[in-house]
Amino acid sequence: MPRAQKFLSAQQTNKDYLMIQMAEHMSRLGTESAFEVLARAAKLEAGGMDVINLGIGQPDFKTPDHVVEAAVKALRDGHHGYTPANGILPLREAVAADFEKRNSVVVDPNDVVIVPGGKVTMFFAILMFGAPGVEIIYPDPGFPIYRSVIDFSGAKAVPMPLREENEFSFSADEVLDLITPATRLMILNSPANPTGGVLRTEELDKLVEGLQNHPQVVILSDEIYSQMLYDGRRHVSLMSYEAIRDRVILLDGWSKTYAMTGWRLGYAIWPKNLAEPATRLAINCHSCVNAPTQYAGLAALTGPQDAVRAMTEAFDERRRVIVEELNAIPGFNCVNPGGAFYTFPSIAGTGMTARQAQDGLLEEVGVATVAGTSFGEYGEGFLRFSYANSIENIREALQRIRVWLQQR
Ligand code: PLP
Repeated sequence: MPRAQKFLSAQQTNKDYLMIQMAEHMSRLGTESAFEVLARAAKLEAGGMDVINLGIGQPDFKTPDHVVEAAVKALRDGHHGYTPANGILPLREAVAADFEKRNSVVVDPNDVVIVPGGKVTMFFAILMFGAPGVEIIYPDPGFPIYRSVIDFSGAKAVPMPLREENEFSFSADEVLDLITPATRLMILNSPANPTGGVLRTEELDKLVEGLQNHPQVVILSDEIYSQMLYDGRRHVSLMSYEAIRDRVILLDGWSKTYAMTGWRLGYAIWPKNLAEPATRLAINCHSCVNAPTQYAGLAALTGPQDAVRAMTEAFDERRRVIVEELNAIPGFNCVNPGGAFYTFPSIAGTGMTARQAQDGLLEEVGVATVAGTSFGEYGEGFLRFSYANSIENIREALQRIRVWLQQR
């Protein structure tokens, strides 16, 4: 194309661009800062910096071999077409059986909807209930996508504060006080991102009792880290409370448990009358999860579980190291996390804001972490460390932080 013509078409594109007007709700859609930190870390690495990534929330292990093989076999066997929108029946049956085995709750495979990742369930659940005039209660600090999608839906986002002094569990009385006649959905997440906190059973019991006075409130229980618990803790699923079972949406998936973040595979167990609208959302959005991934998920649930145990043991060992080392840094205070693979130390004693610490650590000493404020306003004064990295790297990162703070 001649130069002049090229210039004209570029001008034309700019003009067209100025005339494009996105819908107003797009301005309310947020993001997940961990991905931004990952991109900035990759850029610094490309420029020659040695970056230790304690920012991103994904296991640093490989998907177990037998799971990978099941996907390859599925493709070779010709499973490359559409599947039912809610997922292949053997996988939904395996989800039901696995959930029953772990939580002693009987699940109807028809209530299970397979989706491309845990995030999709939260998107569907929030869009199903969120609208102007509606209130949705969500954990703060919490996974940033909850707040982002609530805002996008037009609903009012009502933060449920999770405090360091409660080891990032909640106070049931405080949460029950947040409920109004406009509350339609309450989001819970245990074990939690970004704190590693585990909701206390006494508080959950109290919450469930109180929820009986608010029958309009549906609970989205994000239990994606349910198999990563430490110090002998046992997971208590919200689905195991008979009194509210008919209004719990259970979110789980394969990403964390089986080191399958990039496969994009998750599931929800929906209340009876909600599996159909969830499936309709799936049909409108992605039709179905790709078939070989569903066969991989089936192999993960029905095959040997030793890789899951080995990963949890490795995370536990790293957890002990990182908590001890963080607490040895002047100005830091780190609560012992009960689950997941995150620590959320307070950095209040350093006099820095969360964002200053995040940016300084990344740019000056090559340690990627995520500012607590990326998870809500109650996250100010905290940093999230993911310990999905080797003990050697964790020790090296903390040494860099110690030296950096001394030199400031
Ligand atoms: N829920 C929580 C609490 C998470 O931390 C994450 C991922 O970081 C997800 C859901 C989403 O998982 P997935 O990668 O399967 O979409």
